[in-house]
Amino acid sequence: MSRAANNDPVSSSGAQRPGAGLLVVLAGPSGVGKSTIARALVERTGMHYAVSATTRPFRPGDEAGKRYEHISRQEFLARLDRDEFLEYAEVYGEYYGTPKHPTVDLLAGGQSVLLEIDVQGALQVRSHYPAALLIFILPPDEPTLLRRLEHRGRDAPQEIARRFRAARREIHMARGSRAFDHMVVNDDLQRAIAQVVALVTHAQTGGMAKDDRSTQERGNRQ
Ligand code: ADP
Ligand code: 5GP
Repeated sequence: MSRAANNDPVSSSGAQRPGAGLLVVLAGPSGVGKSTIARALVERTGMHYAVSATTRPFRPGDEAGKRYEHISRQEFLARLDRDEFLEYAEVYGEYYGTPKHPTVDLLAGGQSVLLEIDVQGALQVRSHYPAALLIFILPPDEPTLLRRLEHRGRDAPQEIARRFRAARREIHMARGSRAFDHMVVNDDLQRAIAQVVALVTHAQTGGMAKDDRSTQERGNRQ
């Protein structure tokens, strides 16, 4: 996937331009708690949340325009042809993508931006934005993940089964890719939020956040 030509916060050498904002990616299997953690992260840091475009139909629980712009498959493919996505993927049979704008403009203006996306998208971000902070959220164990998917009450039983089956593969892909800076286990929610906020604020101030890693599963990149 090619980069935006003008406002790209990454120079042609792959280095982050001075003054560019921090691009943060939260990934992890469905039901692990990404949206819950992302909401808290936005509230506490004031960073911008990137609205994705998706072909997945609107469902009860989706707040209109806050998380997604729901578009047709035809519209998604037309935008893809026009190279309008910073990253995209087909996930659970639907297309999801991060529009380049306004994300690249905000980054170029020094603002931090949060992407809540799947592993395939995270790997695209890693290759185009080497300075991005990639965090993968893990469930404490498989039965807990299944309970969360069920208790959320959003997806039909066969959709829950599909997402649960995909989780093991996604975790395997995330670990094997070595692309993520940190793996955070979401057992106690407040602790997981505090860890993610600490990682982001540390990275925003130019730190590598190595000291914070003792309390969480280590990322794969060191
Ligand atoms: P995702 O965005 O990764 O699909 P959600 O944020 O929608 O996941 O969380 C799935 C469900 O699990 C929601 O009902 C949420 O309230 C709940 N949840 C999230 N984190 C925790 C946690 N640490 N302990 C218990 N329940 C949680
Ligand atoms: P859901 O249907 O549960 O809202 O999202 C399904 C999956 O798509 C989740 O893993 C979510 O993180 C991912 N996703 C949401 N938006 C994007 C996006 O813009 N790009 C990519 N690659 N994945 C996304």
